[in-house]
Amino acid sequence: MTRRIAREHSAPVRAALSRPAAQQPDWPDRKCADAVAASLRTLPAIVTPGETARLRERLRAVARGEAFLLQGGDCAETFTDNTPTHVRGNVALLHRMAALLATAAGRPVVRLARAAGQYAKPRSASTDAAGLPVYRGDIINARTATVAARTPDSGRMRQARIHAARTVDVIRAAQVGTYVSHEALLLDYEAAGLTTYGSSVRSGLAHFLWIGERTRALDGAHIALAALLANPIGLKIGPTTTPEEAVEYAQRLDPQCEAGRLTLISRMGHDRVRDVLPPIVEKVTAAGHFVVWQCDPMHGNTELLASGFKTRDLGRILDELEGFFEVHRELGTYPGGLHLELTGDDVTECVGGTCGLAEHDIPDRYRTACDPRLNPSQALDVARHAARLLRR
Ligand code: PEP
Ligand code: MN
Repeated sequence: MTRRIAREHSAPVRAALSRPAAQQPDWPDRKCADAVAASLRTLPAIVTPGETARLRERLRAVARGEAFLLQGGDCAETFTDNTPTHVRGNVALLHRMAALLATAAGRPVVRLARAAGQYAKPRSASTDAAGLPVYRGDIINARTATVAARTPDSGRMRQARIHAARTVDVIRAAQVGTYVSHEALLLDYEAAGLTTYGSSVRSGLAHFLWIGERTRALDGAHIALAALLANPIGLKIGPTTTPEEAVEYAQRLDPQCEAGRLTLISRMGHDRVRDVLPPIVEKVTAAGHFVVWQCDPMHGNTELLASGFKTRDLGRILDELEGFFEVHRELGTYPGGLHLELTGDDVTECVGGTCGLAEHDIPDRYRTACDPRLNPSQALDVARHAARLLRR
């Protein structure tokens, strides 16, 4: 599929966008998608450069071990569930967890919501079990299991932008000091949110953007675009990442070795983290990068049950978290943050924890549009566990 690259973009942005990109939809009407992208470029930014610069400062403190980063929210936001009540519930949960962590760690906690743009999902197969085109997130198609609903519809990018702006309004009204982030996956949408100031390119769509496990090809468009951004950047690293690759990512995404510019979000799996992470941390640190080391204990621990539900076991989540802390304690580096899929709604998606949720409870309130999220009780279990580890 060809992506039209708007003439308005600067040469470096055009060069980045012209690289191969994984996980992009095949819009049935390219002209229509271009018209939507053009209309998005005329809209005001969702976040301000001042706020983004402030987050960059806060992450510098995290990288230096003077603060802790708590990032969390839905795996996939949806247009129908993005009600003010839902958004406020998620942010309030982040707030409670941050308070616990701050008390234990004796240092401030930076709260970063996975919200206001988390609408595009990378998928491992292009069709689902029924042979229909797979659901790729509300910004691309609908979950309803019909060919019509699953056909990519570029008009959804406009709806996403409206929802994102509203979500940020709700977050701003509820609480000061919460930043927003999402995976920079859908390039037509992301490119339309860029502003170029001299040689610096900034996304006005979120304070922080990350590149996911499935789109981190070293020579691909996502990494090239992330390298250009003035926003602080995250990168998911999974169990197949080699220490050499990790250094290469750090060189491209943090060429000036600026503390907190890059957050490496490790999602190794509870049984791999203790083996895979140490040489990565050692090599990246030896190369002079002060990254934020963040643990995503969710994505390496997803299981598909015979019932067809995807779930995650809290025991494994806590084990990966422990392994992550062990690795950093051993190496003398700083375990700087947590990245979680969670919701303030009382869902039954992950199993285990003090709420005693078991496999047979899963169908009761399984509401996620994509991956299983922690409910408030489970999320607070994780926060308490992390607090204990930080106190040591
Ligand atoms: C996610 O964060 O929802 C996600 C898809 O993660 P990863 O890229 O680590 O698989
Ligand atoms: Mn997910």
